[in-house]
Amino acid sequence: MRKGIGVSPGIVVGVAHRVESVFGSLEEQTLASPSEIPAEIERFDRAVAESALEIDSFVQKVSRELGPAEAEIFRSHAQIVSDPTLISRVHALIEEQQLTALSALQMVMHGFAAQFARIQQDFFRERMTDIRDVILRIESHLTRRTSEPIGHGGEAHNGSESVILVAHEILPSQAMSLGDLPIAGIVTELGGSTSHAAILARSRGIPAVSGLEGIMAEVESGDMMIVDGRDGMVLVRPDQEATSAYRKVQREFFNLKDRLVANRDLPARSADGAQVELLANINNIADAQAAQKVGAAGVGLFRTEYLFLTHHDVPDEEEQYEYYRQVLQSSPNESITIRTLDLGGDKTVPYLGRRGEPNPFMGWRSTRIFFENPKLFVTQLRAILRAGRHGKISILFPMITTLEELRFVNNLVKETKSDLRREGVPYGEHVKTGVMVEVPAAAVCIDAILRETDFISIGSNDLIQYLVAADRDNPKVAQLCEPLNPAIFRLLRTVFEACQRTGTPVTLCGEMAGQPRPFLVLFGLGLRKFSMSPAFIPTIKALLASVTTAQAERFAHHVLQLTTSEEIRSYLTARLHEVSATLEIFDTP
Ligand code: PEP
Ligand code: MG
Repeated sequence: MRKGIGVSPGIVVGVAHRVESVFGSLEEQTLASPSEIPAEIERFDRAVAESALEIDSFVQKVSRELGPAEAEIFRSHAQIVSDPTLISRVHALIEEQQLTALSALQMVMHGFAAQFARIQQDFFRERMTDIRDVILRIESHLTRRTSEPIGHGGEAHNGSESVILVAHEILPSQAMSLGDLPIAGIVTELGGSTSHAAILARSRGIPAVSGLEGIMAEVESGDMMIVDGRDGMVLVRPDQEATSAYRKVQREFFNLKDRLVANRDLPARSADGAQVELLANINNIADAQAAQKVGAAGVGLFRTEYLFLTHHDVPDEEEQYEYYRQVLQSSPNESITIRTLDLGGDKTVPYLGRRGEPNPFMGWRSTRIFFENPKLFVTQLRAILRAGRHGKISILFPMITTLEELRFVNNLVKETKSDLRREGVPYGEHVKTGVMVEVPAAAVCIDAILRETDFISIGSNDLIQYLVAADRDNPKVAQLCEPLNPAIFRLLRTVFEACQRTGTPVTLCGEMAGQPRPFLVLFGLGLRKFSMSPAFIPTIKALLASVTTAQAERFAHHVLQLTTSEEIRSYLTARLHEVSATLEIFDTP
């Protein structure tokens, strides 16, 4: 039995499927016989050739879209991918040690990393980042061809068992392609509750556990596993007794989920009739369709960076416009709040030239990037404004820290609109703009922010990590980075009060919106717009229907008197039990 962080609630019993990666734990894999050597070398060479072609086309497109300086990074990638040392080392390992191409690539990468680690110069550190990028690209071409389709007779799957992905880390670009596979559980070595794997898992209602160091070394594809996403417990090769006990809980979990989906057409109202908007957080069109299915009232947060992370190069204005239109068409009520690019932190694209910052979450991320790269931002604004003609679209700016920043982006919106007008390009005149309140400085100075914005949306995932100074993806500090903290509720109260005074619409779109215990407090503090992973909407709707406004206000009032997270947790656990014991299965500890 292993204990990690429960990042997406629910229980699953199933078979493991390892996601191999050159960045995972080092494990040698050899070919079955020497006769496979020539084919393996050819496979590797093909992956290199395809990567080289891809990189060449990036150089062209990035130069066109962003300028030649930004394309420089891909020129250096082009050099690395055709570097004879890299290629001959991999060939040698396949030939002499009969390693698989993936395993050889991994060895070579570790070799480079060890070599560069001895050199204490920024130039070489950056060079290593480029090498990793290139190796990752070659790897994706290699595995694209070989990976056994999960759930279709792969070694990990006997046809009827649920599949549990076990990975070192799930990168943002992988997270999206995994989105189409029939996965029933996710377990990762890295990552906390707001990592990509966690967000992906929650948006699909899949139980998941992160922060399980060394689990890759303990699990083989095909092993039976139990994943309990509530308390972060994972059992590898469980005995018969545990398996049948957990299968029973798993059935209850799924039955309850199915029953709850039946509430999709009911209004979101509290037991005493207070109306609430339950909106969806989406990353792509499939999520928009999922939101439609569970009866979301609209999309409260569309994270556009996934479009960039999964696109083979930079999406241009036309491509973005088309994509936003399609998302709009697939969205409930055809109303969406599109967040402008929130790259940086752990979500990087090479063309932004963000290189090896020692502290990326505190660094050059999100809207901050556009003060130097306004072109990328303006292209996105043009695409969103144009799509705004076809439905109810609002624009949301992430990571706004100061009033100066807000004025800068508001100005760009104004200029972009007047450019479109001058060019005779039709756009949505009534598109509203809003600020994500996710940096404590913006929350503290909320009065000033509210004077210059149409609405706000609270990004509690980041607000919490910056308020408690604990990295949201670091399992070692996960106990600090959680919503049931007195400082969070106190700060949120002042923000809600400022919004009430000024009549500014406010939504909360961080993960706590879809978690039963924090939800009770937020509702009690007067919040009426919540945006969450679609999978949580049925649960929260059911919870809302079982609580009265007066009850929730009492809970919130009491919570604000408490001074430790522990007291808040146990108080709310008891209240949740009173209000709706059946929904406890959807809460994480
Ligand atoms: C947040 O920070 O709460 C948020 C919703 O945005 P993200 O998780 O994408 O940073
Ligand atoms: Mg955020």
